[in-house]
Amino acid sequence: MKRILVIEDEPQMLLGLRDNLELEGYDVQTAADGDEGLQKASSTAPDLVLLDIMLPKRNGFDVCRELRARNVSTPIVMLTARSAETDKVLGLELGADDYVTKPFSITELLARVRAVLRRSNPQRPATDTIRIGDIDFDFRLHQARRGSARVEFTAREFELLRYLVQRVGQVVTREQILNDVWGYEEYPTTRTIDNFVAKLRQKIEKAPHAPEHILTIHGSGYKFVG
Ligand code: CA
Repeated sequence: MKRILVIEDEPQMLLGLRDNLELEGYDVQTAADGDEGLQKASSTAPDLVLLDIMLPKRNGFDVCRELRARNVSTPIVMLTARSAETDKVLGLELGADDYVTKPFSITELLARVRAVLRRSNPQRPATDTIRIGDIDFDFRLHQARRGSARVEFTAREFELLRYLVQRVGQVVTREQILNDVWGYEEYPTTRTIDNFVAKLRQKIEKAPHAPEHILTIHGSGYKFVG
């Protein structure tokens, strides 16, 4: 299930968006000002952010700029109240992926959301080979080598590592990992994820207890750093 974070201060608008998005099958998180939005953008690891421009505490442009400055690559769709071209241009320059102008029809908004999600997922650039620390990985061949010595990884370990690598710099929750790497037909617990991460750290980290590549983001999940 895709998660959408809606950052909007008008209660009616927020409720309307939440209800319609939930009807479409999205998991919806909400925030009513820029600070809360920024905080939830990292703690809830959304697949897409719907971002109003005029917000208390921190406006939408600032939220967008700050997220991109933190290397968060989550797609952002701006909700612009004005039809001013400058708002749209500024939003896109700051790293937003698309915008809709208020008042918009819910049909139009949902179409934009679907399009942006389709563009951003699931066909990320293939990451077939990568060096992490002193290990060279070839995900296509399921091989890992340290110098000339082979390092053994199970298929699931490869899959999990690749999943994290493809989302470099992004926080992924244990639930996302469960859904995307394990799939709905299996029923491991989030504890399983932690065990797999521990095994990966034993193999790739210089100091598994002070990891440099697979970071634990307290209360959220994990983040890969190259
Ligand atoms: Ca507003």
